[in-house]
Amino acid sequence: MLPFKLIYHPGYDLNIGAHVFPSQKFRLIAETLLKEGIAAPEDFLRPEPAGDEDILRVHTEEWVRKLKTGMLTASEVMLLEVPYSPELVEACWLAAGGTILAAQCALRDGFGCNIGGGFHHAHAAHGEGFCAIHDVAVAIRRLQADGAIAKAMVVDTDVHHGNGTAHIFRDDPAVFTLSIHQLNNYPALKPPSTVDLDLDDRVEDEEYLEILLPEVRRGLEEFRPEMVFYVGGADPYCEDQLGGLSLTKKGLLERDRGVFREARLRGIPVATTLAGGYARRVEDTVRIHVNTILAARGVTEARDAAHP
Ligand SMILES: [Zn+2]
Repeated sequence: MLPFKLIYHPGYDLNIGAHVFPSQKFRLIAETLLKEGIAAPEDFLRPEPAGDEDILRVHTEEWVRKLKTGMLTASEVMLLEVPYSPELVEACWLAAGGTILAAQCALRDGFGCNIGGGFHHAHAAHGEGFCAIHDVAVAIRRLQADGAIAKAMVVDTDVHHGNGTAHIFRDDPAVFTLSIHQLNNYPALKPPSTVDLDLDDRVEDEEYLEILLPEVRRGLEEFRPEMVFYVGGADPYCEDQLGGLSLTKKGLLERDRGVFREARLRGIPVATTLAGGYARRVEDTVRIHVNTILAARGVTEARDAAHP
């Protein structure tokens, strides 16, 4: 049994069929965690869809109405880059509910892991790059509205810049946004995060970790967030079809462990989400996401062992 909860719902599947976004990965990750005995069925919680009042703390009424009624314009669908369907909308509301639940669990358990979410390209008034609803922003606003936290930090390690996150929180001193990404990649326009770590093409494990971890440490020390939202993209992987970095699976595991350890050392809870992953072999994407859960477990156990 895990010392924290995994949040998953079969409805996370975006039902987009053959597409570079492997939306069956959510189910495959959950199945792998069970099959390999990493998690037991009782470790899983099934989220409710987020309420519209939760979504509307981040998104405009017009965008929410368009999504719910299927009235997106052709150019809005093009920007979203996934075909519109009512199932897609359901999946978005569920993913946001899942990240809210993961954050609530993290407050109690130190970690809470959504086996979904991380839709960091979604903006308040439109969707982009497979992301229609910004689940992480929705969860931050919900926890703030509940008075559970005031300050949050987003650590986004997806290979693509977290443009939606940066834009949504651009004028908000209560949310620290950090994005480490390949500079020469989507999205073309990168509104500034609190800290942007722009990487050259083909950066490898060692250099990546040397750039990321000191900045995470500094952010935690200086900003002192009450929660970290981790956007754990699998797409900095060397075999990724949409990424141009050269991290190995081992390097990605060290990335997760490094970030989690820094938060844990300071007693800061971490809510994790998945984000992108487009490896040539979907098994690799699944493995990298599964390793994020193993990293969380490892950090929890190390801490408990050190402080019995
Ligand atoms: Zn990505």
